[in-house]
Amino acid sequence: MFMSSTKQEIALRLEAVEGKIKAAAERSGRKREDILLLAVTKTMDIPVMKAAQELGLTHFGENKPQEINRKYPEFEGISWHQIGHLQTNKIKYILDKVCLIHSVDSLHLGEEISKRAQKPADILVEVNISGDEAKHGIKPEEADTLVSELSKLENIRVKGLMTVAPFVQNPEENRRFFKKMYELSVDIQSKNYDNVTMEHLSMGMTNDYEVAIEEGATIVRIGTGLFGARDYSK
Ligand SMILES: *Cc1c(COP(=O)(O)O)cnc(C)c1O
Repeated sequence: MFMSSTKQEIALRLEAVEGKIKAAAERSGRKREDILLLAVTKTMDIPVMKAAQELGLTHFGENKPQEINRKYPEFEGISWHQIGHLQTNKIKYILDKVCLIHSVDSLHLGEEISKRAQKPADILVEVNISGDEAKHGIKPEEADTLVSELSKLENIRVKGLMTVAPFVQNPEENRRFFKKMYELSVDIQSKNYDNVTMEHLSMGMTNDYEVAIEEGATIVRIGTGLFGARDYSK
């Protein structure tokens, strides 16, 4: 029988994660407040998420739009993030619920979001920085063009870039990918496209968030590091 985390277990993990975020931020010449800790709540039940909220976590990320749709009415005071791949027929579940869509990787998806949105939607462009065929995201060399095309859409505001780095034993192996993401965001910022700011770099997960922060991440997406191992059987 899988036991979900108790509030006390989450509290202990959160304290450790907070310490590491703060230290990594300082190593990169920034402050703790410059980094957003996004709690990845996929597969977590409502009571576990309530405990997380009581411990002070205010941003939740899910990869399935239907899960945001289901969990959303159970909470007040939470900012929701769509972090997983988004199909156009699922946009309707999340559009008026999320503060940021991390995973736009095609003009078509951007156009569909823009068409359905009642007000400008904040999005990140997902980049497949490692070239791993199993990963979503646009190729790094195509990111600038996609951002420039998205910038022309009425109801889209590009707020930065996102990536899912490979799962590696040693997080140092991902440092070069995080560096490339940072360079890409600086390049794109220098183009001064309308409705585009590169204020966010969403990168780093449980395994590698300290390295990601050192290389400029402003949002780290942490699931296992807060809630323990996920049970996908439910
Ligand atoms: C699941 C998930 C995470 C969190 O992964 P952990 O290794 O559990 O921290 C972050 N980002 C995305 C896009 C995910 O799907």
